[in-house]
Amino acid sequence: MKDKPLVALVGRPNVGKSTLFNRIVGRRLAVVHDRAGTTRDRLHADAEWNGLPFTIVDTGGIEVLPETVVAGRRPGPERVLAQDSAPFIPLIREQAEQAIRDADAVIFLTDATSGVTAGDSEVADILRRARCPVFLAVNKADNDRLRQAALEFYSLGLAATVYPISALHGTGVADLLDAVVDSLPPAAEVEEAAPGSRLAIVGRPNVGKSSLLNRLLGEERAIVSPLPGTTRDAIDTRLEWTADDGAKIPITLIDTAGIRRRGRIARGVEQYSVLRALRAIRRADVALLVIDGVEGVTAQDAHVAGLILDEWASVVVLVNKWDAVENKDSHTMTEYTRWVRDALRFLDYVPVLFISALTGQRVNKVIPLALSVQESRYQRVATGPLNRLIRDALDRHAPPSKRGKRLKIYYVSQPGVDPPTFVFHVNDPDLVHFSYERYLENRLRETYGFVGTPLRLLFRRRRRKG
Ligand code: GDP
Ligand code: GDP
Repeated sequence: MKDKPLVALVGRPNVGKSTLFNRIVGRRLAVVHDRAGTTRDRLHADAEWNGLPFTIVDTGGIEVLPETVVAGRRPGPERVLAQDSAPFIPLIREQAEQAIRDADAVIFLTDATSGVTAGDSEVADILRRARCPVFLAVNKADNDRLRQAALEFYSLGLAATVYPISALHGTGVADLLDAVVDSLPPAAEVEEAAPGSRLAIVGRPNVGKSSLLNRLLGEERAIVSPLPGTTRDAIDTRLEWTADDGAKIPITLIDTAGIRRRGRIARGVEQYSVLRALRAIRRADVALLVIDGVEGVTAQDAHVAGLILDEWASVVVLVNKWDAVENKDSHTMTEYTRWVRDALRFLDYVPVLFISALTGQRVNKVIPLALSVQESRYQRVATGPLNRLIRDALDRHAPPSKRGKRLKIYYVSQPGVDPPTFVFHVNDPDLVHFSYERYLENRLRETYGFVGTPLRLLFRRRRRKG
């Protein structure tokens, strides 16, 4: 499937993680413009080395998100930028813990110009416990003197090889990546095929993911398979769901809280792990994003939503603990829906369901809704009706012209699903204005729904013959 091995970058602020990230990805990607026209930090990207695909995740900044309610008050996650690394040591320690638990390989990045710091030794102590391979890279080794100085990092006793690199100039990075991809499991091993629908229950700790899972398993229409599937980062639960027409639909629930729930050592609180959330979202057909209806949307919720958008995943938002929300009236759900979509930067197409895992309220609607979202993800529109729809849209509302030139759309097709992908053959892709693209998308949704599913609209210059 879509899943690729995950390589995590761990290190203090300012050692050059984003610089290395950009070099590995090969483009300047650290900042992305998402569909709402806003900008946020890019934390993961797909890369390839020696023909082997993998995903690189920059753990820097992930946990720095302040855990405050943002819905209705603030527009989204704020990244607190690190000035001085000392106060961030607990944070980096935490990132290292997550990396060794959830990544397939870790690159520990340090700085040749500062030498070994106390923080480096602390992080090394954590990484020593890793079961996945750890690569110690010493960055900013821009010249012979610094490459020599980098050897000091052998004193950490962490790795058999120290890789002096310069992320800025690119030296040493190839040797590092050779070793990293050599250590990765083949992509095919990462994903085991499961028939039917795969639903990932994602969300920050304590929103009620485990409670929801247990409720779903208790549903009359759910027959739980006695053989739970196990992966290293999430424990899958297989079940058969009886549809309205009596059909039995195999469902895999990918539960990111599963480790804590079933683990013998009960940890106090589950930790929020971006790596684990990313894995679950990628393996799923539909992500069920659970938020706490009493607390509202927090920065961590917005962060998971960002991952979902980045991955072009289909999604249902579940506002849980609805039983505990006070002073509800007939407007509350409508207002709340708008509030949640805004705060998560989700568009109108994302369905929001208000549930209580405690009382069971509307929990029976979760799987049917997820299945209809999945159906829309695989929906294909025939070329004839598609072109009639677009021609009609053009007639109703002509594209604006730019410098005396007007956009012409000659022909549209939908070559792909998962997510639905539309290719518009046009006279000049530069003439496509964002708002016109949104208009076309809205026309498609008006007719075909595509509930909970992002649409990819591609504009290609029509090739001239001869
Ligand atoms: P991050 O906080 O770990 O993501 O670090 P950045 O990638 O933002 O880099 C911090 C600073 O170090 C920036 O000013 C970079 O230009 C600089 N830097 C990164 N890599 C190198 C390198 O290989 N050599 C030198 N001399 N500077 C570097
Ligand atoms: P997880 O960390 O996301 O798996 O969350 P849990 O399922 O462990 O739930 C966290 C806490 O919220 C527990 O104390 C639950 O009893 C409580 N909780 C879960 N769902 C609901 C709900 O629908 N209503 C209320 N009032 N409490 C809930």
